[in-house]
Amino acid sequence: MTTQISALLTPAPSTAFERGTITRRAVRPDDVLIKIAYAGICHSDIHNARDEWAPGMYPMVPGHEIAGIVTEIGKNVTKFKVGDRVGVGCFVDSCGQCEPCRTGEEQFCDQGAVMTYNSKDYDGEITYGGYSTHIVVKQDYVLHIPEAIAFETAAPLLCAGITTYSPLRHWKTGPGMNVAVIGMGGLGHMAVQYAHAMGAHVTIISQTRSKEDDGRHFGANDYRATSEEGTLKALRGTFDLIINTVSADINVDALLKTLKLDGTMVFVGLPENSQSFSVFSLTSQRRSLTGSNIGGIKETQEMLDFSAEHGITSQVEVISADDVDEAYERVVRSDVRYRFVIDATTI
Ligand code: NAP
Ligand code: ZN
Repeated sequence: MTTQISALLTPAPSTAFERGTITRRAVRPDDVLIKIAYAGICHSDIHNARDEWAPGMYPMVPGHEIAGIVTEIGKNVTKFKVGDRVGVGCFVDSCGQCEPCRTGEEQFCDQGAVMTYNSKDYDGEITYGGYSTHIVVKQDYVLHIPEAIAFETAAPLLCAGITTYSPLRHWKTGPGMNVAVIGMGGLGHMAVQYAHAMGAHVTIISQTRSKEDDGRHFGANDYRATSEEGTLKALRGTFDLIINTVSADINVDALLKTLKLDGTMVFVGLPENSQSFSVFSLTSQRRSLTGSNIGGIKETQEMLDFSAEHGITSQVEVISADDVDEAYERVVRSDVRYRFVIDATTI
């Protein structure tokens, strides 16, 4: 039997959030029912809820950083039991057959993974995300949250954590590497911690000096502010790897030039507008410009276990459902230290 649950929804693009109800499907044999405890606010929620990428599906219930407790399991569920602390990230299903799915990179599913919200499930139902009290998810798309990670800080790992961990691993971050993290918001503060834990020399490139103490506390060896004249010029030829987390337009050429010979710049930030660059910025030092999209389920569990082992977690500000509109404004102003997390009991 389907259930009606409470959710925080936005009825149209760029419209204030309101409380409402949505329907969750009945628990199928492979499903778990999760009582949501916390839901992180990712900048992608803002891009989606404001139709900055594409026309959205309304009413929209965002939220793809979910931490909760299993309250019911389907009869074929073997991976979870009632009472487990679990997480759900950016997608809740994928075809399971294609090469990316078979190799644990479901985020690149040939048929298109079913995203946690603002997406159509394979049965045609629109998906609703974590700004709600409960969610029903197939067990294969649910993660175990290690006991060592405080519950309210765990939710952001499900997107901000894996989105930065995955490219750092893919481009083999380790000792002897110079890594730059551009933008220290939700994603950026996780990238700094992971790159540091993997043994790299880490430089934060932020707009201002205001986050320097925090950045060094997260493990950065160096901190630069683009508001200061000549910052990027002084860094020319420095980095092996750049993780760009900026949600807005950037000067791609100036950043590419801070890469060494054969260096790589990875976009994880997804600005609304197309970005441009001069091809000379690549050819002059055989540089690469690329992008990365969240991470697969297996790697997400690896990231959670790595986080627990290294004492890495998100720095969060827990808010009530009443404060989500204001939190969106603060994220857009880069005034977040470093992730807002909604207490789901207030929805
Ligand atoms: P966020 O918390 O808002 O952080 C973005 C940071 O970028 C800000 O804190 C700020 O850092 C910097 N920034 C913002 N506006 C800027 C501007 N105009 N010029 C220069 N720097 C600016 O956002 P987030 O949640 O980390 O997400 C970042 C981006 O990644 C978003 O576009 C989001 O949609 C995208 N994303 C992508 C994936 C993926 O799989 N690829 C997954 C999740 C999110 P400073 O104050 O330090 O300058
Ligand atoms: Zn996200």
